[in-house]
Amino acid sequence: PYYGLNELREMFLSYFESKGHLRLPSFSLIPHNDASLLLINSGMAPMKTWFTREEEPPCNRVCTCQKCIRTGDIENIGKTDRHGTYFEMLGNFSFGDYFKKEAIPYCWEFLTKVVGLEEDRLYPSIYLDDEEAFEIWNKDIGIPKERIFRFGKEDNFWEHGAGPCGPCSEVYYDRGPEHGCGKPGCTVGCECDRYIEVWNNVFSQFVGDGEGHYEEMENKNIDTGMGLERLACVVQNVNSLFDVDTVMNITNKVSEITGAHYGESHRTDVSLRVITDHIRSAVMMICDGVLPSNEGRGYVLRRLLRRAARHGKLLGVDHAFLYDVVDTVVHENECAYPDLREKQGYITKVVRTEEENFAKTIDGGMRIYEEMLAAHKEQGEKVFSGADAFKLYDTFGFPIDLTVEMAEEEGMQVDKSAFNALMEAQRVRARKAREALGDLAWAGIDLGLDTTPTEFTGYDRLEGTGKILA
Ligand code: ATP
Ligand code: MG
Ligand code: MG
Ligand code: MG
Repeated sequence: PYYGLNELREMFLSYFESKGHLRLPSFSLIPHNDASLLLINSGMAPMKTWFTREEEPPCNRVCTCQKCIRTGDIENIGKTDRHGTYFEMLGNFSFGDYFKKEAIPYCWEFLTKVVGLEEDRLYPSIYLDDEEAFEIWNKDIGIPKERIFRFGKEDNFWEHGAGPCGPCSEVYYDRGPEHGCGKPGCTVGCECDRYIEVWNNVFSQFVGDGEGHYEEMENKNIDTGMGLERLACVVQNVNSLFDVDTVMNITNKVSEITGAHYGESHRTDVSLRVITDHIRSAVMMICDGVLPSNEGRGYVLRRLLRRAARHGKLLGVDHAFLYDVVDTVVHENECAYPDLREKQGYITKVVRTEEENFAKTIDGGMRIYEEMLAAHKEQGEKVFSGADAFKLYDTFGFPIDLTVEMAEEEGMQVDKSAFNALMEAQRVRARKAREALGDLAWAGIDLGLDTTPTEFTGYDRLEGTGKILA
């Protein structure tokens, strides 16, 4: 049966309510009191203190649909069918209440009975020697042992930053060979988009310090996460997250403005996906109080908007246009997030201002970039220098990943470590200048809503490393 994305969200939340869970609204994308994370990237992230019992949860069973941003997936946009930088994560949580024996059957019942996915297309995975989870899948649910995959820490031990973590059991859905890489040995766990991971059930029983040290918690918890767009993708039997009903409506709007048609060519599809994904993320982030800036999450927002703006250029748009898509993003999401409509005027203005600011320098920057590129090519170089990338950043406001992406299109790599060294030197100079100004420096502070101080810590740190995300 067909269900829309908005219907699926409701089906999930009401299913878990019927199992005694308290339904809570999504938390903000901006973490509260959590310096290990720039932006909320999972359903459990805002609940860490409930898992550790530093704070008392409102109920021992909770379910949510959480807005998430994963900066680490930015490069996957346009490359895979299953990643967005913004997505919603459905989750059911047990704080010292039920554990594996209940969590796995809930997961299975929801997917096969409530949503009606074909059992034969579903494959669970478990952490190496988690025999307890194996027994439940095999004996209680009845999945033959050859259909249960055992993976190591990389895939089946869940941790993002410091905090609660543990072994997990994922559920993959086989979308069929037409979505696969076709390579021999392509099976569950392959990086291609045939067997897509829909749900992760984390048996969260440890607290990590983000540096590889773990302590067993007194109470064992359940933390699960299922991408709403991924669920919709398999239920609707469409090609990618971008073809899901509500997301496609945004792509259609982008097509209308840019004149590019989805499905026409690989190149335009990449641009359409990047624009659609990034404007979705930007709208949700601005709504939660993030403003474009050169630091921390503000910089994440700036990168997204500028990369989207450049892809607009690639599609031949020579004026600000992203702000014009805001209304559609609001329309597709307001039933779950009514504050979008209230803040629509503000969001539109923020997007437009950032686009117009970037528009002032993008053409000049593109010209200089072309010159730099030509010079590197003339020298027969395969590496685009960090100094040039820094100049593009510093003078023309080109975020590094924009330059990286453009260079990659020409088969070149950017010397990121040289770039980072120049960034660091600039930071030190800026700090010294601020110190020299003393208290006066505060007079010029950006009075945004997003006032939690965040420091730029480099571009390369990904999720799962326990380090601050940039
Ligand atoms: P993948 O291996 O496909 O990158 P993951 O293992 O990184 O996914 P988890 O951290 O386990 O994902 O998150 C739980 C669930 O959230 C996933 O099973 C998936 O359904 C969803 N999800 C994760 N990342 C994304 C994303 N970038 N876009 C959309 N959904 C996502
Ligand atoms: Mg991932
Ligand atoms: Mg995975
Ligand atoms: Mg996973």
